Amino acid sequence: MREGLTVAEAQEWILERAPRLDPEMIPTGDALGRVLAEPVHSARLIPPADSSAMDGYAVRAADLKGATTRAPVELAIAFEVAAGGVADRELQALESARIFTGAPIPPGADAVIRQEDTESVGDHVRILIEPVERDHIRNAGEDLRPGDLVLEQGMRLGSAQIGVLASLGRSMVPVYRRPRVAILSGGDELVEVDGDVSGGRIVASNSYTLLAQCRAVGAEPTYLGISRDRPDQVERQFRAALASDCIVSSAGVSVGDHDHVRPVLEKLGCTLEFWGVKMKPGFPLAFGRFGSPSDAGGLPGPLVFGLPGNPVSASVTFEQFVRPALLKMAGHSRCHRPVIRATLTERLTKKAGRIHFVRATLERRDGEVLATSTGSQSSGVMRSLSLAQGLVIFPLEATVLEQGEEVRVQILDDHFFSGTESGI
Ligand code: AMP
Ligand code: MG
Repeated sequence: MREGLTVAEAQEWILERAPRLDPEMIPTGDALGRVLAEPVHSARLIPPADSSAMDGYAVRAADLKGATTRAPVELAIAFEVAAGGVADRELQALESARIFTGAPIPPGADAVIRQEDTESVGDHVRILIEPVERDHIRNAGEDLRPGDLVLEQGMRLGSAQIGVLASLGRSMVPVYRRPRVAILSGGDELVEVDGDVSGGRIVASNSYTLLAQCRAVGAEPTYLGISRDRPDQVERQFRAALASDCIVSSAGVSVGDHDHVRPVLEKLGCTLEFWGVKMKPGFPLAFGRFGSPSDAGGLPGPLVFGLPGNPVSASVTFEQFVRPALLKMAGHSRCHRPVIRATLTERLTKKAGRIHFVRATLERRDGEVLATSTGSQSSGVMRSLSLAQGLVIFPLEATVLEQGEEVRVQILDDHFFSGTESGI
């Protein structure tokens, strides 16, 4: 087992080993945020026919040479075509057809005159402008033609992609399966959220944080409760988690007498691949795998993340390591949080040898972003994480970041780029 990796080494190690899950067919209406497992080609012509882009009159442009407001050309209104209707006869010279948006262009017509550019006179219409051929006509197939590659494999499905699938008549869509995650807590001091906190007990809040972090990336978490600091209980809990794609436990991975996670994992046949990442918060992180790796021909079992117990450490290590792994498993190719440049509003210091993720508020001002730490950076202080929109990346070997210095910030707040004022 390796010890003391850098964050980048640990991320790379984990992402290389996180398997992309199998595809499944799901209803297109439920596919928001999922990743397409196969390319989608059009089997249809969309629009299916030349159709009108306006309410008005279908005409033959040749009839209307020189038409103006002063010298209108009068055409007979021969028939009408509505959206969903069919034009069953050809338009003859000096005829027009009343037409509505989305209705098919009758044979013989080659332009549409907007209603605003006409005056109706009984069963005739006066055309006040000279059209250019194909005016206000949507061409058949201008959106999609049979055989067109419409959506590529690996694409994340948003509302527009779902709309395209629906227009192609695809009620079901192949997407990568969502990772099932088992969330475990362990410690004699822990109680559930509505439990009795007398005698120094604390709520096992990590399970709430981690469940929410899983849901935020579209994974399917299951909470397996709290085990006491006894090897048999820890073992029972991990056994119950073996059916998942990914096991996330917090606490009990250090080297204390009550830290049973590592020995239990080894007993159950988990290969512990590394322990300890040079970061703060969150050094004591263990990563392992059950089952034989697929490169050895076996079936891959769940990935195992033994996160530190301190609430901020658990959440920040989830962000750096579990989140990208879950995204990759679900088929995403963009697995990392965005990183932007920001100006630091204060001086920060630390020792060399660990990268620090400094909880910070971010303020957009005059085209730049100002980053200010949210106060105590103790790994138990969740309040300072709850106030943070981002994490200032204080590099491994650096010891000082000066006030006014440009720093890199990982954005945690998905809505950071949303505006409070209209963006137009
Ligand atoms: P440990 O790794 O067991 O030494 O735990 C480190 C710290 O994290 C201790 O202060 C624990 O009380 C705390 N802790 C452990 N598990 C949780 C949890 N599920 N929720 C909140 N705090 C926890
Ligand atoms: Mg403990």
